[in-house]
Amino acid sequence: MSAVIIDGRRVAADIRTEVAQSVRDVGELAAPRLAVVLCGEDPASAIYVRNKGRVASELGIRFDLRRPPATSTCEDIVTLVHGLSDDPDVDAVLVQLPLPRQIDPERVIDAVAPEKDVDGFHPTNIGRLAEGRPGPVTPGTPAGCMELMRRYDVPISGRRAVVIGRSTIVGRPMALMLINADATVTVCHSKTVDLPSVCREADILIAAIGRPAMVDASYVKPGACVIDVGISSTDTGVTGDVDRASVEPVAGWLTPVPGGVGPMTIAMLMRNTVALARARRRLARV
Ligand code: NDP
Repeated sequence: MSAVIIDGRRVAADIRTEVAQSVRDVGELAAPRLAVVLCGEDPASAIYVRNKGRVASELGIRFDLRRPPATSTCEDIVTLVHGLSDDPDVDAVLVQLPLPRQIDPERVIDAVAPEKDVDGFHPTNIGRLAEGRPGPVTPGTPAGCMELMRRYDVPISGRRAVVIGRSTIVGRPMALMLINADATVTVCHSKTVDLPSVCREADILIAAIGRPAMVDASYVKPGACVIDVGISSTDTGVTGDVDRASVEPVAGWLTPVPGGVGPMTIAMLMRNTVALARARRRLARV
């Protein structure tokens, strides 16, 4: 048996089509507006932001890019974010991470108004997710993983899920979303003892580590759904955390890298933008 390969490009394209329709519904008075703060010269961030801008304009979302200088102080960025949060014509605010060293990312994230927090990273929104009553948006990458599983009919309720990684961006919110979907969840990290045997318990295995091809067949229960969030640049190109050649014959479902979780992140960001615009304009949820 060979795993069903989950086609993130196709699902992301479907979501973009749905979002474009929602934009038309919401945007009768004014199209949703996403403000993005890009501070510093990180080349990967510049590429991510360019891609977000391209998809936003394809979908009819107004994309408002702010580029404060890399020498900005934390105070400068907090003031900028407060201004965007207070601007009634801005629906959603995103601060591209990482920020230059002198800027405290937590202070900046806390400065985003929770009702405009398109990444869902504000403590208020993470707290709501932790309480099992999420707001209109949740963090895009783990939300994209959930969406892939739902659209491929992967059973979640009552199943055992193992998440490798406990970052605030991926691992932790992923675990919360799986708990909220009634999975029985274990979170692993660099101190976990005998990681492969813990992972072999999983009906759903999420790898969000950043170590190329670390997860091989010895980590995978036959028939499990394996979601590979990892993105690493190697000599052979972009590589995930999962060793596809070894895992594909064992798993029930598998997300490839590239073409799995990656395309979902921007699609979910756009969906979140529209969801915030709808919530702010007192319309129904997307
Ligand atoms: P972090 O570096 O913040 O977190 C990595 C996690 O992996 C940590 O919890 C760490 O444990 C754990 N870890 C590291 N080494 C091991 C190991 N040997 N065994 C077990 N656990 C280990 O990364 P992110 O969560 O931000 O991202 C994870 C990956 O996902 C990266 O490759 C990133 O590029 C990718 N990514 C992809 C996105 C997409 O759109 N597809 C979006 C966001 C991220 P500990 O906490 O103990 O240090």
